[in-house]
Amino acid sequence: MHTSVLVAGASLAGLRAAEQLRAAGWTGPVTVIGAEPHMPYNRPPLSKEALAGKASFESLAFRPRASVADVHWRLGTPLTAADLDRRTVELADGARLSYDALVVATGTRPRRLRCPGPLAGRHTVRTVDDARALQRELTRPGAHVVVVGGGFIGCEVAATALALGAASVTVVDPLPLPMVGPLGPLLAGALLKRHERRGVRFALGAGVAGFEGDERVTGVALADGTVLAADVVVEAVGSVANTEWLDGNGLDLSDGVLTDGQLRVGGRAEVVAVGDVARFPNARYDDVPRRVEHWSMPADTARHAARVLAGQLSGTGAELEPFSPLPTFWSDQHDFRLQSFGAPSLGLGDVRVLDGDPDGDVLVGYHREERLVGVVGLGGAEVAARVARFRAELTQRVRPLRSSLS
Ligand SMILES: Cc1cc2nc3c(=O)[nH]c(=O)nc-3n(C[C@H](O)[C@H](O)[C@H](O)COP(=O)(O)OP(=O)(O)OC[C@H]3O[C@@H](n4cnc5c(N)ncnc54)[C@H](O)[C@@H]3O)c2cc1C
Repeated sequence: MHTSVLVAGASLAGLRAAEQLRAAGWTGPVTVIGAEPHMPYNRPPLSKEALAGKASFESLAFRPRASVADVHWRLGTPLTAADLDRRTVELADGARLSYDALVVATGTRPRRLRCPGPLAGRHTVRTVDDARALQRELTRPGAHVVVVGGGFIGCEVAATALALGAASVTVVDPLPLPMVGPLGPLLAGALLKRHERRGVRFALGAGVAGFEGDERVTGVALADGTVLAADVVVEAVGSVANTEWLDGNGLDLSDGVLTDGQLRVGGRAEVVAVGDVARFPNARYDDVPRRVEHWSMPADTARHAARVLAGQLSGTGAELEPFSPLPTFWSDQHDFRLQSFGAPSLGLGDVRVLDGDPDGDVLVGYHREERLVGVVGLGGAEVAARVARFRAELTQRVRPLRSSLS
């Protein structure tokens, strides 16, 4: 029997893992198993261009590289269990497969609000099917839309809903500012003003107590007693890692799959985790494991994990340098962009304007122990190039910060 690699999860991280295994020299069989019936596709446009109707949902499919033409895709059937000692997995259709190496790439799903009230009219945005269903509702003229959650996806969906002609869009969040957790008050305040100037309303400082309506949602009741009329509700309140299928293997699954500094899982040389589901220490900063839900991370984690596995499978692997990626993300909202390099959330205690003005285009630096750990730009499309100029400074040293300051 051939030595085989099984990739669990057929999205960006699963695809990149297959591609990077080939790039790392692994020529043996690779099978990718996915819960969704679709080949891997790009998620960021689901809250932006595709939701707005500016790009077709069909155009979001990734074009796999020629190197993965012989990879076997088993789609539409989730994994339900794994026995890491026996190196086997089970699928929802009853199939049991064995592997020599396993890549965990099962990503996340939206967290749901557990408040009383009807479900109809309430949406989340993670899959292409979610976005199609939401688009049908947002394109009905005159909808009153309430977005619960002022994070990245909530802010993006709010902007898109307004562009699609909603009569009103209100973002609800118990925190005092949108995106204040990852960005801090300086940029979050600037963001709030920009959204308000373009017509988005905010109900901040109070959480959701329940949903009104009999068969379908007609309103959102807040903890402070306010009731917001709503034809459509979007719940954008964070994510939950898809790890249940790994239960019973003694792993730390408290927030995603805990890995070591080489992305290995549970001390096993033949199991790695990649993408949104992986909780790994980044040697660039400290030894605290964290999940990083940015589009760039599937490629970065897959490149490193594939080298680890290819070395293990061929028996030639030397210990690699610890994984130390430079995180990066962008977010398009209305006619402006947020672009980030580094880890701003690690430097929230020391935030300085590097260039510009929060009321216009601005670059903000995040520092820890006097070291620049992240830069975020807010402005027009050209802000990405301006932030990228700090890349060299953000990558020049891999000097761990004190982990006690996480
Ligand atoms: C609406 C939206 C907008 C975004 N916008 C941005 C952006 O502007 N900028 C940015 O940097 N990032 C953005 N992101 C984040 C980025 O898309 C993610 O970081 C990326 O998709 C993570 O890829 P992944 O493969 O790790 O996980 P996922 O994309 O979650 O894929 C995991 C796959 O595994 C499958 N799966 C789950 N459980 C099982 C199982 N038991 N068996 C088999 N398969 C399973 C899932 O169905 C899914 O297909 C956005 C995400 C969303 C949802």
